[in-house]
Amino acid sequence: MNVRVLGCSGAISSGGEDAGDPGGTTALLVDHDIMIDAGTGVAVLSDDELARIDHVFLTHSHLDHLAFLPLMIDAVGDARDAPLTVHASRATLDILQAHIFNNLIWPDFTRIPSPDAPGVRFEAFETGERFMLDGRTVTALPARHTVPSMGFAVSSAQGCLAFSGDTTTNPAFWAAVCVLPGLRHVIVETAFPDAQIALAHAAHHYCPTLIADDLRGVQMNAELLISHLKPPHGAQILKELRAALPHVSLRALRAGEVLTL
Ligand SMILES: [Zn+2]
Ligand SMILES: [Zn+2]
Repeated sequence: MNVRVLGCSGAISSGGEDAGDPGGTTALLVDHDIMIDAGTGVAVLSDDELARIDHVFLTHSHLDHLAFLPLMIDAVGDARDAPLTVHASRATLDILQAHIFNNLIWPDFTRIPSPDAPGVRFEAFETGERFMLDGRTVTALPARHTVPSMGFAVSSAQGCLAFSGDTTTNPAFWAAVCVLPGLRHVIVETAFPDAQIALAHAAHHYCPTLIADDLRGVQMNAELLISHLKPPHGAQILKELRAALPHVSLRALRAGEVLTL
């Protein structure tokens, strides 16, 4: 199983800072057919690569995680003979239907080209549930954000990768993650530096101090890959994480890298 990082930035940015290369906003491609989130990182995919994606799992409804989903559904319609399946919590799917696929912001592709053969179908997927496809398993993990949110674990026979999605203080995520068999990598968001801890609390994101608090006492033999860095603060956030977690292997996740499991 290959997990290709299409984008992992906390905002669109032309780069120029030294915290890796986060690319566009969040999107991860698992092999050729499963995508996790559909932020602006999706723009690096070719038409053929886009058309081969059968399943999209969404952590939550914020634009930086789904901006390219409506455009992608429209773009691949002629090249596909089956609808794209979007897996997300019922609460997130209801938000998508009401606020995006509402024939105002974007056509309701759950009913066009026709209700019998639509461009997209929605499948509710709740925390704790599993989805299995061709030797790979996606498991929904708990998250705590300003809107209904979840993380995901993706695993194959060779190993497991966990992804926090957008979250703030979240002991339930780490309790679920540290017992995952074959855990190799944890992609965890850290949107803000400690100087913005008030903003981290208000926006329900992590800052280094909040992650260090959550990891106290957690036994885990996996590499932390830091995502969702807000571009002007990337280097500072990493410096603070390394100081707060001196015994943890961590680095910035980079757009374009492929994690093989
Ligand atoms: Zn968010
Ligand atoms: Zn986000």
